Parts: sequence; C-alpha cells; structure tokens
Amino acid sequence: MMTATTPKTARWPQRFTRPLALPLAFAMAASVMLPAKAQAPQGRGLPIIRDAETEQLLREYTQPILRAAGLGKQNIRIVIINDRSFNAFVADGHRIFINAGALMESETPNQIIGVIAHEAGHIAGGHLSRLREQISKAETQMIVGMLLGVGAMVAGASSRNVGGNPGLAAMTLPQEMVKRSLLAYVRTQEDQADRAAVKFLNATHQSAKGMSDTFKRFADQSLFLSRGADPYLQSHPMPAERVANLTDLAKTNPYWDKKDPAALQQRHDLMRAKLYGFIDRPDAVLRRYPMQDTSLAARYARAIAGYRAAGVRGSVNQIDELIKAQPGNPYFYELKGQALMESGRAAEALAPLRHAAQKAPNPLLIQAMLGQAMVATNEPKLTKEAVAILKRVVTREPELTEALTQLAMAYGRTGALADADLASAQAAVMRGDIRTARLLAERAKKRFPVGSPGWIKADDIVGMKLPAGAGAPR
Ligand SMILES: [Zn+2]
Repeated sequence: MMTATTPKTARWPQRFTRPLALPLAFAMAASVMLPAKAQAPQGRGLPIIRDAETEQLLREYTQPILRAAGLGKQNIRIVIINDRSFNAFVADGHRIFINAGALMESETPNQIIGVIAHEAGHIAGGHLSRLREQISKAETQMIVGMLLGVGAMVAGASSRNVGGNPGLAAMTLPQEMVKRSLLAYVRTQEDQADRAAVKFLNATHQSAKGMSDTFKRFADQSLFLSRGADPYLQSHPMPAERVANLTDLAKTNPYWDKKDPAALQQRHDLMRAKLYGFIDRPDAVLRRYPMQDTSLAARYARAIAGYRAAGVRGSVNQIDELIKAQPGNPYFYELKGQALMESGRAAEALAPLRHAAQKAPNPLLIQAMLGQAMVATNEPKLTKEAVAILKRVVTREPELTEALTQLAMAYGRTGALADADLASAQAAVMRGDIRTARLLAERAKKRFPVGSPGWIKADDIVGMKLPAGAGAPR
C-alpha cells in the first residue's frame, strides 16, 4: 500500500472526533498511533473505531494468516478506520488498517480474510519499506524531471532559439520514465502479494474465492471508474492481467468451494450489523434491515439504531430478546450496559457490563466501559474498584483517552490529586493538546514526591515540545 491513501481526516464530521459524544466501547477515539503527517490540524488523529466484538473477530481472521506468513510473532494489530469507503492498507510492519467500509461490504468472513491475506503478503514480501524507498526516490526524480520540464519551458519562453534544441525532448523524458517504472514496480508487488495470499490461504485450509471475488469486483469497477473509485482500487492497481493471473492462481487453491463455518458467518453478519447500526442513520439502518428480516443480525442492527434514536427505553426489549436468543453472547450484554449507561442509568448498567467483561475473550474495552459506568454512578464505594479497573486498562492501552479521563475523575474522588492531574495530562497528550498537558503535568509534579515514578512521568510531559505554530496568536 502507498501513502496515497492517507485518509482525509479534516473532512470527517466533527462529531466523530469527539469521543465524549460517543460510546466508549464503540468509540471513535483519536488515534495517536499515526505519523504526524496523517494528523488533523488540531493534532487529532484519524477517527478509529474501537469495539471489542469487531476487534476479536478480526483477530481470529488475522492470526492464522499471519502465522502462515511467518508474521505470528510480530504482534501486528488491526486498526479499524471509521470510513465508509472500501480500503485496507499497511503503513508499517505493525498494523493493518481496515476501513469500516471494507468490513461492511464484505459479505463473508472469507472475503475479508482474503483482503487481510493480500495485505499480509505485502508485509511478508517486505514491500512496505522497499515501496517507500522507491517512492521517496521516485519523488525526488519526478521533482527533478518536473523541474527539468519547467526549466525547459521557462528557457523556451525566454529564448526562441531553445525551441529547436534537440536536447529538450530528452530533458522531459525522465518524468514519464519514472512514472512508468514506478507503476511497473507496484504491479510486480501486487502479483507477489496475490501469490503470497493464496499460499497463506492454502496453508490455513481456506478458500481463495473471497479474495478472487473481491478483486474481480474491483477490476469491474476499474473499467467504469477512474476517479471516485474506492481507495483500495487506487492503491492496489487491478489491471486485466493481474486479474487473469489471480484467476489462474486461485484455481490452484484446493479449498475453493469450502464455505465459512456457519457460526463464523453469523458472527460476521453480527459485526456488519453492528457497524451499520452505529455508523448509519437510524432510517438507513431500517431500510437495510427492514422489520420483516427477523435474522439475529437484523435484530441487532435495529436494536442499536433504536437505542441511538430513542435511548434505552426504545430498545431494551429488543436487546433482551437478543440475549434470550443467544445467552452466551457477551456483546449483547455489553450493548445493554452501554444503552443503560448512556441513558443515564449507570447503576443498572453495571450488572450486564460485569457479565460481558467476564465472558468476552479480550474484555479490555468492556472493562473500560465498566469503569466509566462505575464513575458515572457517583457511588463512593465503587470508586476504588473503578480506579483499579481503569488503571489496568490504561496500562495495557495507554492511548484510550476516554479511559484516562475517567481514571482522572476516579482518582480525584479518592483524593489522589497528583495521580488525577497526571492522568488528565496524559489524556491531553492523547488529544494532542500539549499546552494543557504541560500545565496539568506541572501541577502534578508539585504534588508528587520529587523523583517518584509519577513525578518522572509528569516531568516527561512537561518537557514535551509544543507543536509548531501552537504558540501563535489566533
Ligand atoms: Zn496490494
């Protein structure tokens, strides 16, 4: 993948960048994990979707592929971007980025697993660093080429004699040459990634049909669309010969007709329903999942749309029905807790959230919401437990801004003011508000014993540089 897909952060609706307006478990948190280039002007990152259910499913899709690719030990994370267009990309060797749109459009687990396999092929092939290097070189050469072109034009304008110079044609050549060699390089890598992907799918006894279907769909798209196509198509060129190669290659896959297990397909359907439920407007959700659709996924989507539109009162029965239909599904309890908490019934949210946190395989995000609900109850006897839970959460995931904010509140109530200031300062760092972070850290430093671990952390924040231009008057 190329940097060309750097998402257009600034164009996203404001509400997606304000974590407080959104549920924590399904939160669009500001990402601090991206290079400064991808950051919005306010220092906020991309709107990232955090959701225990979706992340767990993607973990299960990804891990076998990464192991087959020899990347099992690299601790590669999947990051879900809140963008409706189809895209998936690797920006470094540690993260695979997938747009919500790719998950929403992929009808089977196998389709999205195919995309993950292709991206893993790019990482395993070392394309990332080489591609980057190639591009940075090409950019320099292109700039030189363009400079030559411009230089020639300027020269041509200033002197008629230059127009007849045979050297002029040669001077404009590099630009075209560089463009062509760059594209050729990318195509070679696409073929390599395709071959690697089929290898990984074979090794994990999975069908290559989903990948083939997805890429064929893109190839059809590329016949009709040149602009406005999905970013995935733009970054992974899909010329006819690549599709032909891929079709030949896919025939070597012995698991072509193998279907995804029914239970996995259902979890996939539930994940898509959840994304539609949370991201689309409630009326659009009802059009996609009309009342006559009584599948679990449709009921899930409608319950989410219902609570978003009318709070827990408009959806609690629907959620209870979901729990009755699948009592072992922790995420239905999580949804109930979330709906209750956000409707101002935090005390009632505790039981379903505790249950969900106990049953979910990787409950960190649910624990964060449980901590938040405890803080929201205003119950002094819950404060200590909230501190313990939230401390554990932010130790494992220090970028969870909302959890840091809740931890600061919980600390404040226990009278641990130095810790409260430090957690607030850390939350401000995550928001990209370095000025506030430094002020809070200064105060924390005065409250901690000099040289203590908290004092050292605060001191690090005090020493942070303000982003360029932050000191300018507005
Ligand atoms: Zn590719």
